[in-house]
Amino acid sequence: MIDSPLPFALARSERNFYADSGLDRVSEQRRDSAWITEQLLHPNSRFVPVWRSRNLVDPARAEVLYLGQDRFSVGENEPVLLGVRETIAYFAVDLSHIDGGEDGAALASRFAASAAFLDLRIVGPQLPRREGGLLAYARGMLTWHRRHRFCGQCGAPTIAREGGHLRVCTNQECGLEQFPRTDPAVIMLVTCGERCLLARQARFPPGMYSTLAGFVEPGETLEAAVAREVWEEAGVRVRNVRYHSSQPWPFPTSLMLGFYADADTFDCAINRSELEDGGWYARAWIRERSDAGDPTFKLPRADSIARRLIEDWLEPNR
Ligand SMILES: [Zn+2]
Repeated sequence: MIDSPLPFALARSERNFYADSGLDRVSEQRRDSAWITEQLLHPNSRFVPVWRSRNLVDPARAEVLYLGQDRFSVGENEPVLLGVRETIAYFAVDLSHIDGGEDGAALASRFAASAAFLDLRIVGPQLPRREGGLLAYARGMLTWHRRHRFCGQCGAPTIAREGGHLRVCTNQECGLEQFPRTDPAVIMLVTCGERCLLARQARFPPGMYSTLAGFVEPGETLEAAVAREVWEEAGVRVRNVRYHSSQPWPFPTSLMLGFYADADTFDCAINRSELEDGGWYARAWIRERSDAGDPTFKLPRADSIARRLIEDWLEPNR
C-alpha cells in the first residue's frame, strides 16, 4: 500500500514521473501584482531557465540548476510564476531569444562550468522526482506562451497577465482571454487473460514495444477515445475501460490519461500504416525478457506512464 494522505487515485498519479513538483501553485496570488513583484525581487526566489525547450541541469550530478534573479536580464520575457515551495517562490524564464551557441552550451557555461541545457526526456529519469516535475511544469508553461503570442481569433499580439497564467488579446475590440492548455491523450494497456496488447511505431528505439495511445478528440469521452484508438490501431474491441492514473507529459503539451481495458479474444489486425509491429504478449514471457535485457524486446522508457501501466500489470502486488 502507498503511505500517503492523498486519496488513492491521487497517490497513484503522484507516483508517475513529472506528476509532482511539490509546489503550491498559489493561484490566489496570480492576480496580486505587488506580491509577484516582491517575489521577483526577493533574493531567495528561484528562476528555472528554459532555452529552446531545454532545461538547465548539471548532468554529471543529476542536479537541477536554479538561478537567482541577479544572474540574467529578463528583457522582454516576463517570468512565469510557477508557485511556492518551502516559502521560496519559483519562476520559469524563457531564454530562447539568446544565441546560446551549439545546444545552448555557451549560454549554460555562463551559469556554471558543469551546466548544460538538456532535453528533459534525456535527463528526467535520473533527476529527483520533484525537480523533474518542476522542470516539466516550467517547460510546459513556456511552450504555451511561445505558441500563443498571437490571438487565435483576430491575429493581434497577445500579452501575458496574472503571473503568466493568462494571455489577453491586445486588440481591445477582441480582448480574447486564453488560459494555459494541455492536450488530453489516452494511453491504455489492453489485456486478455494472461496476455497484453503491445505494439511499436517505426520511430521507437529499436526493440521497444509499448501500449497503444492517442489524442482525445472534441466531442469524445475518454472511454470512447480508448475504444476508438484500440480499434483503429489494432482492430481489437475492448470493454470494461477503467482509469489507472494520469501523467503530465509536456513534450510538448500532453496530459496522459492511463487506462486498462479488457478484450475477449486474441484476434487483432495491426494497422500497418500506424504501427510497425504489434500483438499479444504473455505476462511470464515479458517478465523473462525484461529481466534478461533482451535487445529485441524492451519495455518503454522508465519515466513513461506506459511503463507504469505495464509494470503494474506484470506485478499487481508490488
Ligand atoms: Zn484577438
